[in-house]
Amino acid sequence: MHGGPLVDRQERTVRYLRVSLTDRCNYRCTYCMPERGLEYGPRSEVLSLEEVVRLCEAFARWGVERVRLTGGEPTLRRGLVELVAQLSTIPTARGTLEVVMTTNGERLEALAPALWRAGLRGLTVSLDSLEPERFARITRRGTLRRVLAGVEAARRGGPVKLNTVALAGFNDDELAEITRWAWERDVVPRFIELMPMASGELFVPGELMAAAEIRDRVAQGLDLRLRPDDGAGVAGAGPATYWRAEGGRFRGRRLGTIAAMTEHFCERCNRLRVSATGRLHACLARDETGDLRAALRSSDPDRLEAVVRSALGTKRDGHGFNIDGSGGPSKAMVSIGG
Ligand code: SAM
Ligand code: SF4
Repeated sequence: MHGGPLVDRQERTVRYLRVSLTDRCNYRCTYCMPERGLEYGPRSEVLSLEEVVRLCEAFARWGVERVRLTGGEPTLRRGLVELVAQLSTIPTARGTLEVVMTTNGERLEALAPALWRAGLRGLTVSLDSLEPERFARITRRGTLRRVLAGVEAARRGGPVKLNTVALAGFNDDELAEITRWAWERDVVPRFIELMPMASGELFVPGELMAAAEIRDRVAQGLDLRLRPDDGAGVAGAGPATYWRAEGGRFRGRRLGTIAAMTEHFCERCNRLRVSATGRLHACLARDETGDLRAALRSSDPDRLEAVVRSALGTKRDGHGFNIDGSGGPSKAMVSIGG
């Protein structure tokens, strides 16, 4: 095994790893998790925190600089704060591993201070509506008040972004208001196009809003223009493109759009994903996986790297998502974490 950077077939270098800590969730967002829930195997199938640390150490040796913890809902995982503290000390070429997290925010009010103290460098909170009843309807379990309190607590300790899935007929009339709410709190809003995961089962044709339409709605609602921006200082290693407000009281503020469906970003993809059970997913939109758990639990020291390098060979140039909801993977978003 050669131990150098992870470069895929298209010469893209992997710098970013997303690690799901659990495929369980206290919410059941309508576009993410089937109402009936998922079937779960025995606990022993889930990577232990010690295995997650070993995995991240290996990826850091191969050039990964940033790890995003996700779920299901990562705050359900016991030992999360200690894990963040451990991961944040892993050496990389440029310092130490940058650890960030995506959460539904329900438990953040209590957890945020400890997470920042443990070395977390960024939080993204999902928020699809500022109206309590709508919020409860889309999450099927969530309480808006707790999430808003979570964002308030989080923003006192470090950089916070919002993730909003824009849905025609559901929250399209709120996109400007969500943007205003975020900007007034120094939070960066990001709007995501609906993706047809779970074999399209959770995808409602007609709900998809294109990123360009989303930006128009925000610009009209707040009476400003949005110009492309390089995202310096707010962009992570992710697929969002950033836009800057011109004119009006929010001049200079930025928002992101994540346009998996209408503005393909596969050519810029620099990440790999690990599920809670240790499956390595080269592409969000495909079902092929490698078995990291078996490699981590084997006595062969080269096996882990062999699985990872072989996954690089299956990373594709594009996804198969279609706007009628076909062409996506059979996995649900809850089981891979976005
Ligand atoms: N539970 C955490 C949360 O909600 O932020 C982390 C996992 S969640 C799967 C990560 C992100 O994926 C969320 O921002 C969510 O809105 C987004 N997401 C889930 N299903 C989606 C879908 N079908 N299309 C687009 N985004 C989706
Ligand atoms: Fe849970 Fe996040 Fe999926 Fe909602 S989007 S069901 S909070 S994993």
